[in-house]
Amino acid sequence: MNANVSARPRDVVRVVQGMPTSDGAGVKLTRVIGQPGFDRLDPFLLLDEFRSDAAGDYIEGFPDHPHRGFETVTYMLQGRMRHRDSAGNSGLLTSGSVQWMTAGRGLVHSEMPEQDDGLMWGFQLWVNLPAKDKMTAPRYQDIPPGDIPEVALPQGGKVRVVAGNLGDVRGPVQGIVTAPLYLDIELAPDARFETAVPEGHSGFVYPFVNGVTVKAARDTPLGRGQLGVLGDGDSLVLEAGADGARVLLVAAHPLNEPVARYGPFVMNTVDEIRQAFVDFQSGRF
Ligand code: MN
Repeated sequence: MNANVSARPRDVVRVVQGMPTSDGAGVKLTRVIGQPGFDRLDPFLLLDEFRSDAAGDYIEGFPDHPHRGFETVTYMLQGRMRHRDSAGNSGLLTSGSVQWMTAGRGLVHSEMPEQDDGLMWGFQLWVNLPAKDKMTAPRYQDIPPGDIPEVALPQGGKVRVVAGNLGDVRGPVQGIVTAPLYLDIELAPDARFETAVPEGHSGFVYPFVNGVTVKAARDTPLGRGQLGVLGDGDSLVLEAGADGARVLLVAAHPLNEPVARYGPFVMNTVDEIRQAFVDFQSGRF
């Protein structure tokens, strides 16, 4: 994208295949980060892809459940999901929208499909908060589809900039402590794409329509649904195959802090997890 992207493109240092599972009240999904053998990629704690056009796979949704100590990011590719929380906040996530929810000290919420047929497709990412921000007040950034800038690429295709920067274009999600980059990159057949990825950030690419090749010191082909963990460097180079591709690129500043995790609570110590249970059970969320 930028003519001045330097010569340190990031390699893929690990390839991870998602695992079919279910969560909430039986929603079928693929867990990519947060599975046995790949429990996190600091600061990312979880990445789920949900994709089904069979209502029975998603209709029961995610009824009331708590979160504390991190952020949940829901990116809807297709479908409608209603969000409600214990403080009376509510919102509808439609196709192409994103919700960046900073759970902070805690809330109880539900995420329920607002459709009873058709395709439901999207991602949920969990991003950890540093110790100093775990007990911050909950905050929502609900971004409708039209507020996510789309950058047309010279060879065709486009990039939706959810968070961070693509050249001079800045994503609408702001004020996140880990300074995330979150791009949805659509590549035309055989197109090449290059962008900056901040030095020191952890990051991954996840092709979700067709595969893609990550070009660096060596080339790594990734199939659809294979997450590539990025090594050191300051840029990323992708090349699509003959059918084009669509790829998530996500990166953020790692925390390098101890992680104590139990289900929907992610803190630094076991004592803080116990406190989260006490607070939740006594209705303090
Ligand atoms: Mn949730």
